[in-house]
Amino acid sequence: SIWLNVHGHRVQEIDDALRAQLDRVAHCTMLGQANVPATLLARRLVEIAPDGLTRVQFSDSGATAVEIAIKIAIQYWANEGRDGKQQVLGYFNNYHGDTFGAMAVAPSEIFHHPFLSLLPVHPRVPYPACPDRPYVTPEDRCAPSILHSTEQALREHSEDIAAVIIEPVEGAGGILPAEPGFLRGLRELCDRYDVMMIVDEVATGFGRTGWTFACDAERVTPDLLCLGKGLSGGYLPVAATLATETIFEAFLGEVAERKTLFHGHSFAGNPLGCAASLANIDLFESLLDGLPEKVHVLHELIKPIQDLPHVLEVRHRGLMVGVELAADPEAGRPFSWSQQAGMVVTSEAQRLGLLIRPIGNVVIFMPPLVSTTDDLAEMAGMLREAVVNAQAELDRLAMESK
Ligand code: PMP
Repeated sequence: SIWLNVHGHRVQEIDDALRAQLDRVAHCTMLGQANVPATLLARRLVEIAPDGLTRVQFSDSGATAVEIAIKIAIQYWANEGRDGKQQVLGYFNNYHGDTFGAMAVAPSEIFHHPFLSLLPVHPRVPYPACPDRPYVTPEDRCAPSILHSTEQALREHSEDIAAVIIEPVEGAGGILPAEPGFLRGLRELCDRYDVMMIVDEVATGFGRTGWTFACDAERVTPDLLCLGKGLSGGYLPVAATLATETIFEAFLGEVAERKTLFHGHSFAGNPLGCAASLANIDLFESLLDGLPEKVHVLHELIKPIQDLPHVLEVRHRGLMVGVELAADPEAGRPFSWSQQAGMVVTSEAQRLGLLIRPIGNVVIFMPPLVSTTDDLAEMAGMLREAVVNAQAELDRLAMESK
């Protein structure tokens, strides 16, 4: 359950909640009706989400949570009589899922190449990540000018743009955290240019960044918030798209006005998944107090990895860590994607007993939130050892790539 797990496996409280729900009903659709666990979960999500997010639409994966957010944003403007606003401004190297809408707002040469010609083109701008990324232009390097290219796109195209979508930390892109302050600045721009702000917290939600949601760190309320993965503690496929009351109201009207969002999935709001999610949130809240210490300890523990050969950069935010490998870090010479250098390290880690996963040349380490500081020390030690053990093979790949 890499990236998803919050409390570990076979957690008594979540298992009990699931068993109790099984004795009531396993599933009933939310097409035209509600169910008790989904109703309670919606209320609970509204309580813990950034202020002002009051409405919840359930689905079953991160990608569908994103699809729903995109469709709500576009239809919101159509319902308001502005049906020219159909584009979604996204960020290079962000990832929002593998369904068509999600691919369209974050197309990737690597992940989506057979489909690129089928995707509608949406505008994209550089992501406000590490200043030394090659795609970050000089004027984008530091706050407040990191907002520059976003503002330029909005200034020129806001008549066509329904929403901006962003990951607070690029996850699948290699654990690149946005500059602190960026979400707040983006919120102001979205208000100024009349576009919706969609924040995709499928990966960052539920404590990953040290906050319940990454938006909390900047006291930002997006118009639409996408949640998945850790929502059910990593137990079952539950996802949610949260929206503001203003958005909800734009979908009310007479049937003939056709303001309805016709988007439903058979398993949305599944009672078992919602029961697990409710138990997860109860447990999660008791983990929150201990998080800052775990985050601090983890950051200290991974520091020594930075000095190992073939390590270009160790990046982190909260309990998200990315170790980027390079053929020659000093010269900035990367491994090619096809060499899958990250796999060399993760295979070593697996041999040592640590299940982690690479994306290209980045080794990604996202320990479950429940990990104790001792667990973190043990895992960080294994990660370091795996990089050390992989050195001969990485040397060979580096020679090969010359
Ligand atoms: N958005 C983000 C930020 C993600 O990290 C992911 C999954 N890696 C998704 C969306 C898609 O989620 P799912 O795999 O549940 O469709």
